[in-house]
Amino acid sequence: MRKRIVAGNWKMNLTAEEAVNLFNEIEEKLTVTDVDVRAYAPSIYLQSLSGKSKKVTVGAQNFYPSSKGAFTGEISPTQLRSIGINTVLIGHSERRDLFGENNEFIHTKVKSALENELDIILCCGESLETRDAGNEVEFVTGQLSSALNGVESESMKNIAIAYEPIWAIGTGRTATSQQAEDMHLAIRNWLVSKYGSAIAESTSILYGGSCNAGNAKELFACPNVDGGLIGGASLDAEAFLTIISSY
Ligand code: PEP
Repeated sequence: MRKRIVAGNWKMNLTAEEAVNLFNEIEEKLTVTDVDVRAYAPSIYLQSLSGKSKKVTVGAQNFYPSSKGAFTGEISPTQLRSIGINTVLIGHSERRDLFGENNEFIHTKVKSALENELDIILCCGESLETRDAGNEVEFVTGQLSSALNGVESESMKNIAIAYEPIWAIGTGRTATSQQAEDMHLAIRNWLVSKYGSAIAESTSILYGGSCNAGNAKELFACPNVDGGLIGGASLDAEAFLTIISSY
């Protein structure tokens, strides 16, 4: 069976006290054991949260793909590993759009993460304009094709994919379960063509984009939806725990 993953992307939210309180509440109340629960926290909280829980894995939202050097303000994969962080987000649409991370840079980050034995949630997703033009599958598989260029089958066990339509992120407008399932199936089929069915069947594909306590059950019921990357709703422990319990 594919790994089910529910990951919170806290983005640039929460004070130190709020972050600890949120983390503790999730950790204390979490009873589900068959879901890989993760919290992608702001970098300044990583060290204090890292290794704090056996039930919730803490990951980094970002890193710079070089082991060290003159990159003011950046954090390296080596530094992340040195504080016990083993997983990162790559390719989030906010990094692409607000910070100019293009497909080439995202590919470099994927290679760097793999070299440093960091597990990856690789995000992809189309704009409304692209969807309205009917090009969403071509666009998303193009993003994946570029990010995973040269990535061997062996490395796919370290990679989960998150489909996050940009028009659904933080907008309250969720993809319908049919739209999500159609894209997840298209991604799965693309994985079959690139890596074969065994790898495609074992790769987790998460949905992200205004997933919340009210709609998670329907989304997670889709055969090709293996969990969620959750932004806004992950900042509320009760909502996040309800999402985790939505399988
Ligand atoms: C995200 O940014 O990864 C995300 C899915 O955000 P939200 O759940 O708030 O739409």
